[in-house]
Amino acid sequence: MTSEELFKNLIAHAKEYGFIFPSSEIYDGLGAVYDYGQMGVELKNNIKNYWWNAMVRLHDNIVGIDSAIFMHPRIWEASGHVGAFNDPLIDNRDSKKRYRADVLLEEHIAKIEDKITKEVEKGRKKFGEAFDEAQFRATNPNVLRNAAKAAEIQAKMNAALNANDLDALKQLILDCEIACPVSGSRNWTDVRQFNLMFSTQLGSVSDEAGVIYLRPETAQGIFVNFLNVQKTGRMKIPFGIAQIGKAFRNEIVARQFIFRMREFEQMEMQFFVRPGEEIKWYEYWKNERLRWHQSLGLGNEKYRFHNHEKLAHYANAAADIEFNFPFGFKELEGIHSRTDFDLGRHQEFSGRKQQYFDPETNESYVPYVIETSIGLDRTFLAVLSAAYCEEQLGNGEERVVLRIPPVLAPVKLAVLPLVKKDGLPEKAQEILQTLRLDFNCRYDEKDSIGKRYRRQDAIGTPFCITIDHQTLEDDQVTVRYRDTMQQDRLSVAGLRALIDGQVNLRKWLPAAGNSSRQ
Ligand code: ATP
Repeated sequence: MTSEELFKNLIAHAKEYGFIFPSSEIYDGLGAVYDYGQMGVELKNNIKNYWWNAMVRLHDNIVGIDSAIFMHPRIWEASGHVGAFNDPLIDNRDSKKRYRADVLLEEHIAKIEDKITKEVEKGRKKFGEAFDEAQFRATNPNVLRNAAKAAEIQAKMNAALNANDLDALKQLILDCEIACPVSGSRNWTDVRQFNLMFSTQLGSVSDEAGVIYLRPETAQGIFVNFLNVQKTGRMKIPFGIAQIGKAFRNEIVARQFIFRMREFEQMEMQFFVRPGEEIKWYEYWKNERLRWHQSLGLGNEKYRFHNHEKLAHYANAAADIEFNFPFGFKELEGIHSRTDFDLGRHQEFSGRKQQYFDPETNESYVPYVIETSIGLDRTFLAVLSAAYCEEQLGNGEERVVLRIPPVLAPVKLAVLPLVKKDGLPEKAQEILQTLRLDFNCRYDEKDSIGKRYRRQDAIGTPFCITIDHQTLEDDQVTVRYRDTMQQDRLSVAGLRALIDGQVNLRKWLPAAGNSSRQ
């Protein structure tokens, strides 16, 4: 099966089992907007919890806030979003489809990189054991030619984006002979800039002064509360403020499921540091954040850093943590050294000092900021796509299992009476009552036990507890494990400890408390 087919199956599965529904589906949907269903909301909450605990609970110099989505419009002038939060767009005249010029070029580069990967795989097959990949990449003429081509396009694109040269971007698309995936033609318009912020009106008067924006990032809510938190929380630099919340962007390339949405959630942390110490902290947070991702056990090879060459107007260093999604490595989290840009601009635009008095150096200064910004929905997709598995079983059957890390699984255990009579449902309910405040449990008595196991596999439930006639006599149950499908006989009294040992944060989160004091 190709990864494209697998991805399609995953999307269908996410809908069938109540993880993600297209928004407004009975009205034919709304582009790039999705709803989370009964399973999705549990998984999403567990991811939030995992992040919040790692950032806020395990660091005594990081605190959280929850700021409003609507903010004073001047904030978005100060942050640069009104003037510069743009995407370069290009339309195909035949299909009338609109694309991001940089994404068209990146996809073209990815295709060239695919060719390189195929060539390497061919070499591996040909030379077998003796294959030396590094040497092959350094000497094979096809690989070298394609690598040079990809690097040249990348360099030209970066230069055009940095110089805001829209004509050069269009020329590069023409030179690369990129065709519209829908019409197949190369009949392109000029490239134009398009602002991604949604706007609306405050109050009843619709004039220019009443225009406000839906926030395109949660970060600014943290910056404008910097002094509120610092003073009321008596915070000493270095310290951080974390926030989880909705952000809105009028994204043009509305594809790839929940990877790129118009309404999404971010989990952001702004870490305030002494000027001159920002690169040390930037490196520190790059490592810490990668460690957090890896702690989920989805596979360390699925992550990589992408260091930015083209820096945003506010940054002096930036990297993405990319994840290997079904459609390739793409950004999952951004780590940015934002200098004193944001606080400096708010100081200028509001006329209020945004300074910190450092008792250690006896100086006042505008702090520098390291930002870690991760998409909640993209993390959801990363977990789901790493977990989704279509598995052939020994007996000729097939099962779909979600190997979601137990700490994040929407349902931790299912309680299943073997039959619907002889007092088994009552016994099952009794067990359920003792566990439901500790774990999210499900009770299921319909269909054969095999079918019920499959249903739990499909939503990623790590434990199934089966109650049979023997249970009534010896208070023992069958515990069936999702990943191995193995079964154990265990006393009811031992269930809480068994499950807790697998799903508790203690087992999962690296004990990183206090380390950000350095
Ligand atoms: P991209 O280059 O993919 O558009 P970005 O660099 O604009 O992303 P940031 O502004 O750094 O993204 O936002 C931080 C994080 O928010 C991203 O790493 C991503 O996980 C998430 N994010 C950004 N835009 C979207 C979106 N449209 N849908 C879902 N998540 C998003």
